[in-house]
Amino acid sequence: MAEHIVVVGAGQMGSGIAQVALQAGLRVTLVDVSKEGLAKAADRIKSGMKKLVEKGKLDEALLKAAEANLATATSASEAKDVDFAIEAVTENEDLKRRLFLELDAVVKPGGVLATNTSSIPITRIAASTKRPESVIGMHFMNPVPVMKLVELIRGAATSEETYQATKALAEKMGKTTVVSKDFPGFIVNRILIPMLNEACFTVMEGLGTVEDIDTAMKLGTNQPMGPLQLADFIGLDTCLYIAEVLHKGLGDDKYRPCPLLRQYVDAGWFGKKSGRGFYKY
Ligand code: NAD
Repeated sequence: MAEHIVVVGAGQMGSGIAQVALQAGLRVTLVDVSKEGLAKAADRIKSGMKKLVEKGKLDEALLKAAEANLATATSASEAKDVDFAIEAVTENEDLKRRLFLELDAVVKPGGVLATNTSSIPITRIAASTKRPESVIGMHFMNPVPVMKLVELIRGAATSEETYQATKALAEKMGKTTVVSKDFPGFIVNRILIPMLNEACFTVMEGLGTVEDIDTAMKLGTNQPMGPLQLADFIGLDTCLYIAEVLHKGLGDDKYRPCPLLRQYVDAGWFGKKSGRGFYKY
């Protein structure tokens, strides 16, 4: 079982991944090019764990241990004795491929190189290393400390040992895993994004008001929030990006992004994070 993991990228996802690893009692080196980003992530992790201790959901000893178990670095090569790497940097294929070359030299032989990518084929990232059998997709959901699911994606060359080690680590972090083939969107986004995109079409066609469409889906299909509110929370730019990945990758026009979604993104209406999307915040 992995004991020392490197998490590369200390943004929204990387900091959450580091937090659940610390909560599992692991040693974590969190890497980011931005020193400011690292400091913010360390604060976010500590306050997240503190809140859980206050609610009685986390043992105080794990919060104390996290002080010693968390190290930060501006380059992955500073980390020694690494069993497992999880990459969660900006979604850019060239960047990820370069980083995997670097991680290849950092992770011990027999260790695992995992990526949290939402849209880049695992097989392509794996091909940039000398050990594609050790590369796997480990797709956490946002916010990581709250969401139970991790999708595991096997690339064309991923070995059974790599898969088993990754599943064991995810379970140690308190997550439930599912396995997906290396196809655009994997399972969750393949099904979710077309539904959100369809909700955008219903707004564009005037089928109902934004509120009625969300209420219909919330109460009619027992979802915790309506699709338009969820799209606003995910970020309309992210939804559009994934819709484009599905459209291009699967080559089927049924995945074409809704023009209204594109227009909102052009207007800078990205949803909650920009103050305006289908709703105003
Ligand atoms: P983010 O922008 O919050 O964080 C990305 C971090 O990567 C930044 O802190 C940036 O400084 C850092 N970075 C950039 N280049 C780097 C380098 N060379 N070395 C080290 N760090 C570097 O992004 P995020 O939302 O956390 O997404 C990260 C990954 O997770 C992406 O691949 C994304 O597709 C995936 N993902 C995101 C979500 C989500 O809902 N946000 C969900 C699942 C998966």
